[in-house]
Amino acid sequence: MMKQLVAFAALLVAVLSKENFHGHQVFRIVPKDDVQLALVRVMEDILDLELDFWRWVMPVDVRVPSHSLQVVKSYLESHSIKYFAMIKDLQALLDEERRQMKSVAAAGNTDSFDYTNYHTLSEIYSFQDMLVAENPKLVSKTVIGQSFEGRPLNVLKFSTGGSNRPAIWIDTGIHAREWVTQASGIVFAQKIVTEYGTDSALTEILNGMDIFLEMVVNPDGYHFTHTNNRMWRKNRKQNQDSSCVGVDLNRNWNAGFGGRGSSNNPCTEIYHGTRAHSEPEVESIVKFVESHGNIKAFISIHSYSQMLLYPYGYTRKPAKDQAELDQVAQKAVTALASLYGTSFRYGSIIKTIYQSSGGSIDWTYNRGIKYSYTFELRDTGHFGFILPANQIVPTANETWLALKVIMDHTFKNPY
Ligand SMILES: [Zn+2]
Repeated sequence: MMKQLVAFAALLVAVLSKENFHGHQVFRIVPKDDVQLALVRVMEDILDLELDFWRWVMPVDVRVPSHSLQVVKSYLESHSIKYFAMIKDLQALLDEERRQMKSVAAAGNTDSFDYTNYHTLSEIYSFQDMLVAENPKLVSKTVIGQSFEGRPLNVLKFSTGGSNRPAIWIDTGIHAREWVTQASGIVFAQKIVTEYGTDSALTEILNGMDIFLEMVVNPDGYHFTHTNNRMWRKNRKQNQDSSCVGVDLNRNWNAGFGGRGSSNNPCTEIYHGTRAHSEPEVESIVKFVESHGNIKAFISIHSYSQMLLYPYGYTRKPAKDQAELDQVAQKAVTALASLYGTSFRYGSIIKTIYQSSGGSIDWTYNRGIKYSYTFELRDTGHFGFILPANQIVPTANETWLALKVIMDHTFKNPY
């Protein structure tokens, strides 16, 4: 009886603990110089404030829980640091997002799949299986490992034949809450199968190369954003010696591991983990890339900020291919803007955003994958991570044009 009671109580806590964000606001803070920026960053270390930084560069975006609003306002005002509430009612945006998701009808095939909406993990998994079943000669699914909680890490392979052809890797969703990325991954997959045979550039690429697409790099985190906490970023690792959960999967790679722009505190959003490649979600990609041995482009997709970035993030040393990477990036963002005029900045990670250590594309670049890029998709902060679903398809469409520039360049410049 006692056992049942304990189980029931645990269940009750789980149900009741679904995070809500009533009264939370997202501030855009506009420091006028590095001194003010440093003053803003001081707040990050005051864990009681429970601030959630959405964007660390100028301007800084930060989610402020209701209990911290007054303190943060007074602090900023006392230092004459400019700010405004960019999202005044976060919970209202989340309620609207949830309401729209309820309208999703179950799809029996990829034609009836609702690309204009966000989807649960199981809907994404079933999309992948439908795509494979409908295109058996072009698409196959490989399970490259299991997440911390035991979910399959699925990678779709698009191939027209050959063996161990040179390949392009694309991943979305390494950070759980960046929902437009997983949703865009679905659209990319659908575009590859419809454009093969109709679009000459993509057809040429796929006749010579394979494409690998991992749509949900962080399935535990993604599931958690649906069930418990929409603002979750990390994986769901139960850390030793800490009650704080999760490792930042984009600080866990063996490239400047543990350096600036990552943290050894499991309670921060940028906790790097106990050692490089400690997380199964990262280790699975590392093993896949190493055993494949012929990956020529590695593109990892995040949101938000509208940027296209190349190595390095952990060091100011320029990448030896910087000139070429920069040229291709410029071409890619030009193609992207040609569709709806969306403007992207581009450059190396450290110069364009900030120093960040242990990131995936620094590792792939150091391993010899020359065309290593990372995207930060829409928007520039108006909605931030809660990008309305009606922007999914436009976001994916414009990004696809940039991806094709990078893939085409990779195809035409074998190395
Ligand atoms: Zn991210």
